[in-house]
Amino acid sequence: MTVKSSTASTYAFVEDLRAEGTTAVLDRVLGDYGCDTLTVAAAYHRARDVTPHGPARVTLRRDGTHFVPPADLFDGLRLAPPVQAGAEHEPLREVRRLTAERGAGLHGWTVFLHNTTLGLAHPDVTQRNCFGDRAAPADLCPAHPDVQAYAVALARSVARLGVDAVVAESLHYGTFGHGYHHERSFVPLGPLEDFLLGLCFCPRCVRHAEAAGVDAGRARSEAAQLVGRVMDGTSGADCSGRLPGHLPETIAAYVATRTSTVTSLAATVAEAVADEGSRLFFLDLTGAIKGYADGRPTGGLAVDETWRTGVDPGAVSAVVPGYSVLAYARSPERIAADVAGYRAALADGCSLRAVLRPGIPDTDSAEHLTTKTKAARGPGGADAADFYHYGLVPFPVLERITAALKA
Ligand SMILES: [Zn+2]
Ligand SMILES: [Zn+2]
Repeated sequence: MTVKSSTASTYAFVEDLRAEGTTAVLDRVLGDYGCDTLTVAAAYHRARDVTPHGPARVTLRRDGTHFVPPADLFDGLRLAPPVQAGAEHEPLREVRRLTAERGAGLHGWTVFLHNTTLGLAHPDVTQRNCFGDRAAPADLCPAHPDVQAYAVALARSVARLGVDAVVAESLHYGTFGHGYHHERSFVPLGPLEDFLLGLCFCPRCVRHAEAAGVDAGRARSEAAQLVGRVMDGTSGADCSGRLPGHLPETIAAYVATRTSTVTSLAATVAEAVADEGSRLFFLDLTGAIKGYADGRPTGGLAVDETWRTGVDPGAVSAVVPGYSVLAYARSPERIAADVAGYRAALADGCSLRAVLRPGIPDTDSAEHLTTKTKAARGPGGADAADFYHYGLVPFPVLERITAALKA
């Protein structure tokens, strides 16, 4: 009943399916656009979205799952996901039935460690910065055992919906610039300070680094010193060099220990998903960190900056069957280079998907999307292209997907 290898999908929200009717959405995505798979958010996070063709033109989203969390998976766990309105109707079961009837794939898009509701209720499981502040409620720390247990249970529950893949978003460290909504800073933080402020120094991360022989106390005080001098106004922001080569030695060593935390969590979650009969696809957000705002990433390739969230693509791809990257760039050449960089870094046998935006801020026309899709899926490139996102883009822009997939 399931698609063995999917080559194109469109991301969508349960709210999109509910508003328009699942059949109508599938007619467009599978019929008109030519995708073979629908990627639906099974667990999502807070947002306020302009939804151009929805019954609500602006949609407010909350943290939570679009299914009732199975009691046998969450009983006894400290962290349980909030539940979305309407979850009791199990909307994903219907989507599974309807996609299977058409021989199409269904991927369950799942946001793991980005959850403000859980972070505000349980601050001790969130990232703790170099000054000791628990000030990133949206970023659950991947080194915390309660967070790890939550991730495993969440992954198993999505896999149990019968999806062909669980697409894991935020199964890694968070960054300072996206730790809360409505952020304010009148301190001119440079890339170095911004990165350091996003580093987690919670007891679990510190212990993990110390076990690897790193002086975590020194790394933390050096980070606090570097950020502190800009906060104090005694020094300007450091914009001089490229990270992480530019980091002081002890901090660089501390940063390097984060990747094994993320890799081992990805491995545990991937095993749990496989145990439930599905596959884990790891979503790497680096392309968004570099190009989300304007589609004009500069500097190094995304694959060389995955350390920003503690991800080692080579190591992660050795423990997951699929890896998704965000091709958030205007330039087809940049997309080809980014995707080729990932392909070269990934372990053999791990499939690679590239996510493209058909409209603003980085695509102007059907021809442009076609060229970019070709660049992403060209020789040495990705096995599949995903389009982001059904509910967030006007219909005429979504229709560019048809041409892009025909070419
Ligand atoms: Zn967010
Ligand atoms: Zn931590």
